[in-house]
Amino acid sequence: MNVTENPVASGHVVLVGAGPGAADLLTLRAARAIAAADVIVHDGLVGADVMAMVPAGARLVSVAKRRDRHTMQQADIGALLVAEAQAGHFVVRLKGGDPFIFGRGGEEVEACNVAGVSVEVIPGVSSALGAAAAAQMPLTHRDHASIVSFVAGECRGLAEQNWVGLAGKGRTLVIYMGVTGSERIAEKLMGDGLAPDTPIAIVERATLPDMRVLRSLLADLGGTVAREAVKSPALIVVGDVATLGTDTVTEIAKAQPCPVS
Ligand code: SAH
Repeated sequence: MNVTENPVASGHVVLVGAGPGAADLLTLRAARAIAAADVIVHDGLVGADVMAMVPAGARLVSVAKRRDRHTMQQADIGALLVAEAQAGHFVVRLKGGDPFIFGRGGEEVEACNVAGVSVEVIPGVSSALGAAAAAQMPLTHRDHASIVSFVAGECRGLAEQNWVGLAGKGRTLVIYMGVTGSERIAEKLMGDGLAPDTPIAIVERATLPDMRVLRSLLADLGGTVAREAVKSPALIVVGDVATLGTDTVTEIAKAQPCPVS
C-alpha cells in the first residue's frame, strides 16, 4: 500500500508477558516484540534481565507503583496505550508473568478495542508456573493433587471472596499477592475448615538467583512470613505438593542469559 494514501499512521499495541523474572523465560515471540518496539510501557514486576533487552531506540514509560507519586489509574494506562498507537507507534505493554493472570490485560485489550486500535497478546510464564518449575514443586501430581486454583490474596475484599473447596485433599491452591495479608489468609482458610497442619510453601522471587522457598504449615503461615521477613513478590502454595521439591535454585537457572535476541 502507498503510505501517502493513508496519512494517519496506525500503530499497534502488543501486551507482552515478561515472565517471572529471568529473561530466558521469555517466549521467542515476546523477545521479538520487545526488539521491534518504539515505546515500552512497563510495570515494576518486569525483571532487570528483561529490561536489559529493551532496544536502545525505544522509549520507556514506567507505570510502576511508586511511593513518590500517585499510581497511574488503569483507565489512564489504557488511554496512554491508545494514544501512543494512534501516534503511529509500535507499543509493547510489558507485564510481569502472564498478562491475563492478575495482570489487568483484559482491561487494556478492551481499551484498545473500544478505540479501534489493533491489539495482540503474547503469553508469558505466570509466576505460579515459574515458581513450580524452579522449586521442582509440581502443582498437580497423581499422588497429591488433580485440581489447581489461582487466587488473588489482596486484603481488600478478602472476606467476601469465596474460596471454599479450593484447598484441601487432592487440591493445590496458589495465592498471588498474599504476603501482606498472609495472617488473614491463613485464618480465612482455617475458618473454611482447612486443617491447620495443611502444608504450605512460600516461594519468594521465583526463578531469580536469590529465590527462597520456605515451607511450613498453614497455622504458621503468618508467622513464617514475619520471621523470615518475606517480601513481595512471593507466592503462597497450599496443599500436599508444598512438601515436594527443592529449596535451592538449580545451577542451570543461575547460568548466563540466553542467546535469544
Ligand atoms: N501477571 C503476573 C501476576 C501479577 S500479580 C503473573 O502471571 O505472574 C503480582 C503477584 O505475582 C505478586 O504479588 C506475586 O504474588 C506474584 N509474583 C510475580 N512475580 C513473582 C516472582 N518472581 N516470584 C514469586 N511471586 C511472583
